[in-house]
Amino acid sequence: MNADLERLIALQKLDSTAEAARRALAAEPEHEVALTARLESATQHVAAAKEQLAANKNARAALEKDVAMHQGRLSKFRDQGMTVKTNQEFQAIQHEIAFAQTEIKKIEDAILERMMESDDLAAAARTAEAQLAAEQRAIDADRRTGSAAHIEMHAALERIAVERATLIAGLDTQVLATFDAVSRKRNGVAMSEARAGVCTICHVRLRPQVFNTVLRNDSILQCDHCNRILYYVPVPASAATAPSGASPQPAS
Ligand SMILES: [Zn+2]
Repeated sequence: MNADLERLIALQKLDSTAEAARRALAAEPEHEVALTARLESATQHVAAAKEQLAANKNARAALEKDVAMHQGRLSKFRDQGMTVKTNQEFQAIQHEIAFAQTEIKKIEDAILERMMESDDLAAAARTAEAQLAAEQRAIDADRRTGSAAHIEMHAALERIAVERATLIAGLDTQVLATFDAVSRKRNGVAMSEARAGVCTICHVRLRPQVFNTVLRNDSILQCDHCNRILYYVPVPASAATAPSGASPQPAS
C-alpha cells in the first residue's frame, strides 16, 4: 500500500477517536445534570411519602382528640341522667347520649380507616427509601465509571496528539493539505472505504477506472462526489471464497 495512504488511514482513525472522546467529554456536564435530577427525584419521592405518613398521623391524633371530647360529653350526660327530675329532661339527655355515641362510632371508623391507610403509607415510604438507596448506589457507580472514563479520555487525547504529530511529520505536505481540506469540509471524516464499486460514505458509484485504481491502494484518489480520499480494504481470502450466508457443514 502507498505509504501516505496508509498514514492517512491511521490519521483518520486517530481523528475519529479524538472526536468521539471530545464529544463524550463535552456531554459530561449534561450527563451529570441528568444524574442529579434522578437523585433529586428519588429524594423527593421519599420526602413526599414521609409527608403523607406524617399527615396521616396528625389526622389520627386530631380524630382521637375528637373521640376524647365526645367521650367527655358522654360521661357528663350519663352523670346528668342520674339526677334528672322530669321525663322531658330524661328524653333530652338520652338524645344527647345517642348523638355522642353516634359521633364516637363515626370517628372511630375514621380512625380505623386511617390506621389501615397508615400501613400502606409506611410500606410506600419504606419502598421509596429503598429506591433512593438503590438510585444512590447506581449513580455513585455511574460517577465512578464516568470519572475513570474522563481520565482515560484525556490521556487518550494526549496520546493521540503525540501519535498524530509523528504521523503528520512523515506525510507528504500536499497529501496532508488535501486531507485537512476534506476533513474540514466533511465534518472531520476525510477518508472513505471503497467497496463493490461504491464510496461507502456518500454511496455514489465510482467510475470503474477510479475503482480499479483504488483497488491497488497505490495512489491518493478522491471520490468524485464527496471528495473523500478513497482506499480499499481487501476481503480476506476465506470470506471471499465462502458462499455468503452459508455456514460450514460438519462432516458426516
Ligand atoms: Zn464519496
